[in-house]
Amino acid sequence: MKLIAVDLDGTLLNCRNEISEENVKAIKYAQSKGIEVIIATGRAYFDALSICKRAGISTYVISDNGAAIHCPESRQIFSIAMDKGDVHQIIRLLEEHDLYYEVFTNNAIYTTLNKREVLQIEMDKIRIESPELDISPLHQAARTQFSQSGFVFVNNYIEILEKDEKYYKILAFSFDEAKRKTGINLFNSMKQLSLVSSGDYNLEISSKYTSKGNALERLAPILGFSFENTMAIGDSYNDISMLKKARYNVAMGNAKDDIKEICDIVTSANDENGVAHAIYKFINIFKSAS
Ligand code: CA
Repeated sequence: MKLIAVDLDGTLLNCRNEISEENVKAIKYAQSKGIEVIIATGRAYFDALSICKRAGISTYVISDNGAAIHCPESRQIFSIAMDKGDVHQIIRLLEEHDLYYEVFTNNAIYTTLNKREVLQIEMDKIRIESPELDISPLHQAARTQFSQSGFVFVNNYIEILEKDEKYYKILAFSFDEAKRKTGINLFNSMKQLSLVSSGDYNLEISSKYTSKGNALERLAPILGFSFENTMAIGDSYNDISMLKKARYNVAMGNAKDDIKEICDIVTSANDENGVAHAIYKFINIFKSAS
């Protein structure tokens, strides 16, 4: 069995947060050749699923940076929840330092009603302090963040803690570099946590056993593949764990330089159907080998 693991944002999704027709075609072609295509994303499962449904594709989904795995029939086959005491402590610290955050559970993405204002205030501050700066990428990042499916707004963070749900991930987001650094310092010392970033402005916290690479490892015996026959495609730091596991690792043309450095192959950008190009390359590798 051969397998291709694909990240969503900055990888399979273009800048309009859609899967292009070219990419859909390539995925379906790979599937028709018996290759298992897996979506591996930091997004919540229900959010990733709605994106896949819109594009008309059906795959295994590793979501929440590896905290959950669902099969194509939508059944959950694996999950790792965070300790509730840790969730409480993290939220308290994020509130204290006035960071925007989202709490990802098996049911929803929770955020408090007033929190989006924090991002607006941070953006206004940048506009005043550096009027020459083009802040359209910041607007774009905020739009992407707010366009996720499954948001539930609560009045107070205590309501988030009262849910009887599985807590998979907490995402903190800030346009203020100093605040992001504070966040990293706060959580780096908590050794029971994994701390990764999938974008320029975010910080994602989950159980230390959570990663896209670990999730792939869990899927290997279930799907019966060896890593010799795998390709992983990504663009950012939360992809490193799976890129390192796969035999063929592909960085997007738009990936961070650090990611391009650790990959054997660099494909074109997400807005140029980089995933489709990588998929055809993978199929050709095995075609020429046989
Ligand atoms: Ca990404």
